[in-house]
Amino acid sequence: MRHSGSDGAFSGGDPASPSDTTRQAARDAWQRTQGGSTGAQTWLSELIWREFFHQILHHHPHVVGHAFRPEFDALRWDHGKLADAHFAAWCGGRTGYPLVDAAMHQLNQTGYMHNRLRMVCASFLCKHLGIDWRRGEAYFAEKLNDFELASNNGGWQWAASTGCDAQPYFRIFNPVTQSERFDPRGVFIRRYVPALAQLPDALIHAPWRARPLDLAGAHVTLGRDYPMPVVERPQTIGAAPLLARSRARMPDEDELPHTSRETTSRRARSCSYVKRFRASARSSHAVSSTSSSAVKSPDCGRMSQ
Ligand SMILES: Cc1cc2nc3c(=O)[nH]c(=O)nc-3n(C[C@H](O)[C@H](O)[C@H](O)COP(=O)(O)OP(=O)(O)OC[C@H]3O[C@@H](n4cnc5c(N)ncnc54)[C@H](O)[C@@H]3O)c2cc1C
Repeated sequence: MRHSGSDGAFSGGDPASPSDTTRQAARDAWQRTQGGSTGAQTWLSELIWREFFHQILHHHPHVVGHAFRPEFDALRWDHGKLADAHFAAWCGGRTGYPLVDAAMHQLNQTGYMHNRLRMVCASFLCKHLGIDWRRGEAYFAEKLNDFELASNNGGWQWAASTGCDAQPYFRIFNPVTQSERFDPRGVFIRRYVPALAQLPDALIHAPWRARPLDLAGAHVTLGRDYPMPVVERPQTIGAAPLLARSRARMPDEDELPHTSRETTSRRARSCSYVKRFRASARSSHAVSSTSSSAVKSPDCGRMSQ
């Protein structure tokens, strides 16, 4: 509805449609970005991602239930008892990775999760645990207050690297460095994983690295008060379950840098996730098109809590 003046009388013209309002808001945001507003820029960027995923859904409805790129439907995700146990741990915030667990607790308790955490949790499910993105997508759909098919599907396929303009397959969020970077004092973790509340800031992101003395001082017994990481060899965070299969070494990095093709391909070879993609991608395009491209992320924000 439009107001005609300070008295609040209505103008009598047609009420603005939602799309008019959105267009006007987008114009206003654009004006503000010209004035240097990063908030407006983030908002506009998110709006554009939303629009982008709506277009994808409209023009490629097969994305509901299938990978945007059909060759990736051949990916072999983990199934069976262990995968089910991992999925249950992920849903219940019991993975042993505090940032992931805190985010899942927030989702379960409030129906909300910040965009960065959605990316971290989605990446963790698909790339650390090797579980089909569709299971995570369905869980988010059930829990999110702001569930919306196009954005949710697009976000999941982006994280799983099966989508249109998705993140490269070799980009794997490291939940520990994400935690150190975006929740350095562990405020968010302490709120949603109170069992870890007394750990010092430096240890709260990866409690398995803490000395027994530090754990005892914080009244934490791993395996009792808080789980051990569900995937083995936490020192290889970033590709742990994948590494376990390939027995190759992967740097403990957040996102593999895109410095050179050579570095990328050497690292990529060491990751069985990559092997899955190579095996499943019928054309070389799937690999070559992602190996040198700049990473576009739907996220511009920081954890807000
Ligand atoms: C795996 C995954 C699943 C997702 N599922 C959904 C979903 O089901 N529904 C959904 O709407 N989004 C979804 N998103 C997109 C995004 O995460 C959320 O919209 C975002 O979390 C909204 O809140 P925020 O405070 O984190 O936004 P920020 O990233 O902090 O963005 C800043 C502001 O931009 C605006 N904004 C952000 N995202 C959107 C949007 N999609 N539409 C309109 N305005 C927006 C809001 O005003 C927000 O406060 C998903 C993303 C991922 C990675």
